[in-house]
Amino acid sequence: MGLLIKNGTIVSSESQQRLDVLVEGETIARVAAGIAADEHTVVDAHGLLVMPGGIDVHTHLDMPCGGTPSADEYTTGTMAAAVGGTTTVIDFALQNQSGTLKEALGIWLGKSNGKACVDFSLHMAVTNLHGEAGQDTLREMDDMVAAGITSFKLFMAYPGVLMINDELMFRVMERAAKLNALCCIHAENGSAIDVVVAEMIAAGKTAPHFHALSRDPKAEAEATHRSIALADMAGAAVYIVHLSNEYALAELKHMQARGARALAETCTQYLVLSIEDQMPGKSWDEARYVFTPPLREKRHQDPLWAALNDGSLSVVSTDHCPFTTEQKALGKGDFRKIPNGGPGIENRLQLLWHFGVNAGRITPERFVELCCTAPARIFGMAQKGVIAPGKDADLLLWDPAADYTISAATQCMATDYSMFEGWRVKGNAKHVFSRGRQVVADGKFIGEAGHGRFVKREANAGGLL
Ligand SMILES: [Zn+2]
Repeated sequence: MGLLIKNGTIVSSESQQRLDVLVEGETIARVAAGIAADEHTVVDAHGLLVMPGGIDVHTHLDMPCGGTPSADEYTTGTMAAAVGGTTTVIDFALQNQSGTLKEALGIWLGKSNGKACVDFSLHMAVTNLHGEAGQDTLREMDDMVAAGITSFKLFMAYPGVLMINDELMFRVMERAAKLNALCCIHAENGSAIDVVVAEMIAAGKTAPHFHALSRDPKAEAEATHRSIALADMAGAAVYIVHLSNEYALAELKHMQARGARALAETCTQYLVLSIEDQMPGKSWDEARYVFTPPLREKRHQDPLWAALNDGSLSVVSTDHCPFTTEQKALGKGDFRKIPNGGPGIENRLQLLWHFGVNAGRITPERFVELCCTAPARIFGMAQKGVIAPGKDADLLLWDPAADYTISAATQCMATDYSMFEGWRVKGNAKHVFSRGRQVVADGKFIGEAGHGRFVKREANAGGLL
C-alpha cells in the first residue's frame, strides 16, 4: 500500500505530462498514466502541478553574525522552507579561523541534530589554513568530502573575519580540483570595500542605505572574475553565490565563453527588490534590507532575469539569513553593526513563480530547473531534484491558481517583518511531501522536527565532470 498522487500534471525541467506518481515508503515507485487506485492512499492533484520538492542551496540557520544568531534555527527555518515548497536546504558550516574543519562540522551538526523538518546538507566555509603550507586543513578537505560535504565556501569579503587571501584561495582550489569538489565563492573585493566603508563612516554616513552604497557592483565584478580565473588555473569548478548585478554577470559570461567551469546563482531579492524602491535613504526601516551583496539599482534586474533563461545563471537561492527588528537595531547609528541578512526561505518559489512564470519571463520547466533539478545536480544529490522511480519522494503539489498575500503576520519565518509585506502573488505550495511523509497540507505545516536528515553529497565538480 502506497501513496498515489493522481490526476496532476508533472512538471520536469523538460516537459509537462499528465502522469500519476506512486510513492512507496520514502521513495518514488512508479510514474505512469492511469495507475489504479487499488488499496493506495490517493491524493487528488486535479488542477495542481506536481514538481520535485524545491532545493534552496544557500541558507544560514542559527548562524552567528555581529554577535547575534540568525533568527531562524533549524526547526523554524526548515518549517518555513517546507511551507514554501522547499524540501532540502544546504546550509553553511563556518570554520573558526583558529579552528579545524572538523570542529566546525561538529558545531553545525549539533545545531541541526534532531531539529530539521526537511532534509539538509552543509557547505564548509574554509576561513584559514593550518599546518605547513596549509596541509593540515587541506587534508581535512578530503575528510569533509568523505563525509558528504563536497562544496567549500570561500569569502573574498569581510577582512579579519571570514576573508581569505588569493594564496589561500588558490591552495583550496587546487585541492578541490583533485577531489572533484566545488568551490563556492562570495565574490566581493573586501579590501577595497572596507576602505570605502571607513571613508563613509568618517564622513558621518552611517544610515543603513550607506551599507548598499559602500559596496560597488564593480567590487563584485572584480572578485567574480578573479575567482573564476584562479579556479580555472587550478582546474577547479567554481560556483559564484548570490550574483547580484550585470557587471558581475558580464564577467561570469566572459569566463564561461572561454571554457571555465563556472556556475552561478542569483537570489530572489536581487530579482524583485531594488535600492530605489526599498532604500530611498530616508528611514531606519531600511535596515531590514541590509544584506550582502546589497540591493542594486533596478536596471540590474532585467539582465539577471535574462541570464536565468539563457543558462548563464543556473540556480535561484535565497541566502536566507533572518534577523528581527530588535537584532537589526544593533546597528542603529552605524551601518557596519547591522546584522547582515534577510528572511526569504519561505517566499522563494512564490516570488519566482509570480514574477517569473506568471510574468512570462521563464517557463514552468525552467522554474523547476532553477529551483529543484539544477541545485540537486550541481550539488551532487542524485536522489533528489527529479520525479522518477527510485528517487526520494520529495514532492511539491503546486496550485498555480492560489491567491496569496505575503505577510509577517502569517509567515513561519521567525522575523517580525517580511521584505515583501503585503505583496499579492498568484501560485503557491498546497501539499508538500518529504521522503514520502506529508509535511504540508493545504498550505499548513503538519510535519515534525527531527524528520529531516543530513544528505551526504557526491563530489561531482558541480555536475561538470
Ligand atoms: Zn550567504
